[in-house]
Amino acid sequence: MQVATGTSILNGIAIGKIKIYKAPVYKIDDSLVNDPIPELKRFEDARVKAQDQQNVLYEKAVDSAGEDSAAIFQFHADMLDDDDLLDAVKTIIVDQHHTAEYAAKQGFANVAEMFKEMDDPYFQARSADVIDVGNAVIEYLLGIDTTSLQGTEPTILVAEDLAPSETVKLDKSLLLGMITREGSSNSHTAILARSMNLPALIQCKQISDDWDGKFAILDGYNSCVYIDPTQDLIDSLTAKHNEDLRKEALLQELKGKTNTTIDGKTIKVFANIGGPSDVGAVQQNDAEGVGLFRSEFVYLNSPEDPSEETQFLAYKRVLETLAPKLVVIRTCDIGADKTIDYMDLDKEVNPALGYRAIRICLTRKDFFKRQLRALLRASVYGNLGIMFPMIISVREVRECKEILAECKRELENEGQKYSDIIQVGIMIETPAAALCADELASEVDFFSLGTNDLTQYTCAIDRQNAKLEPFADTHHPAVMKEIKMTIDAAHRHGIWAGICGELGADPTLTETFLRMGVDELSVNAKSVLPLRKKIRSIDLSKPAQS
Ligand code: PEP
Ligand code: MG
Repeated sequence: MQVATGTSILNGIAIGKIKIYKAPVYKIDDSLVNDPIPELKRFEDARVKAQDQQNVLYEKAVDSAGEDSAAIFQFHADMLDDDDLLDAVKTIIVDQHHTAEYAAKQGFANVAEMFKEMDDPYFQARSADVIDVGNAVIEYLLGIDTTSLQGTEPTILVAEDLAPSETVKLDKSLLLGMITREGSSNSHTAILARSMNLPALIQCKQISDDWDGKFAILDGYNSCVYIDPTQDLIDSLTAKHNEDLRKEALLQELKGKTNTTIDGKTIKVFANIGGPSDVGAVQQNDAEGVGLFRSEFVYLNSPEDPSEETQFLAYKRVLETLAPKLVVIRTCDIGADKTIDYMDLDKEVNPALGYRAIRICLTRKDFFKRQLRALLRASVYGNLGIMFPMIISVREVRECKEILAECKRELENEGQKYSDIIQVGIMIETPAAALCADELASEVDFFSLGTNDLTQYTCAIDRQNAKLEPFADTHHPAVMKEIKMTIDAAHRHGIWAGICGELGADPTLTETFLRMGVDELSVNAKSVLPLRKKIRSIDLSKPAQS
């Protein structure tokens, strides 16, 4: 048995086989062939297989994400019937005597380049699709089985590191747990793991390729993984795992109950989500609403800048399914660790302090308006709150509200409807916003404290940098003061204040937050019922416990 340690980001136990995850590397032979005919045949076989694969992905995506998100796979499948595209490859095989894989790489890249140079943004965006489809063909030609990246059975996935964009693409039904060599506990990948309720270990420096296929137990309680565990360990940790499942079942009894303390104070407990596919978890865990829909995952999940229509359908689906519950959708918070190729963002020395979130939206007005128009149009299907991230000044909030008003006017002129009861709020996640909370409160309907970034910026601790974890104090008194200041300022101005950062789910702080007067806590869906249990055990009429 081998024991490897790391930093646990979710208490829990995962038992199963290890799967080593590696992004595919294409090794393409550039030597020439004498006879192009067999290469043409290889290309045709791979094309048909890639087309079948896109059709299967389409069916799968319709089930998990809906018709609209799935449409891209249908489009990819259709592209593989396009004579111009196929001729671009076949000519290289026939005229230049290159291998099918070389010709596919070159041919698809040439066509993608042509699209990129077109003036129309629609055709420019097709460039990424051509590359995607080309890669599917190349993978068949090189015998790379992409399903084997994650495997076909549920496993504990082990990787060097996982970007948020890779994590969102993983098949959640095949994930028992996750282990990475890199990563930090407040990164978005860690947040995603928590929201998927996955036991996960980061900073596990001992991971090794020869773990692949081995039986293992990831013990989130003790921040370690046992490879080839002894029978005694299997028995005791299986018992602990079953105990967890029993406790989870007991929590179900709290469904339908209020989040009320023993002395009668009630607050709202909402859930954080990343997209329409998380709505089921909101319902299963009986959250009263959504306090943070990280809309950037709609962008990360898409191979191209999502159109107003694509976004409208995603927001509509969430609002409609959860109506009349409040759903707070945060406008696109891209940048820092959440990068997207099609956004063409420059590499920066200090991305967390850089061109991100509202700064991108306020300077790329068409991009921002596309989202706001989609949100407004979707608002008639439910109870919408719009929230702006990374705010540091009243000027920014006013600009956001002006652009929102402009979108409303446009929709009115087009005869399109939007709800007239949309709440507009901001995230308080910079020290500047916390210190100016009074001024900001008179501009909006609510505040939501983003304690992840608020801690990062207040303590000058990069949340992505695992080396700094020994210096990080998640309960830093400066952050606690800012939270209290923000809640007080909100109440002075008659608006509500919630917490949507990871601290909201920390049961050791629940009583403190209740005593500060917080109105809402928005947490990963799995924490909703444990938090309800915690709230119901607190008596604010008694002296503070912490
Ligand atoms: C936060 O910063 O606390 C927050 C909720 O936003 P994110 O984690 O997505 O940056
Ligand atoms: Mg944030």
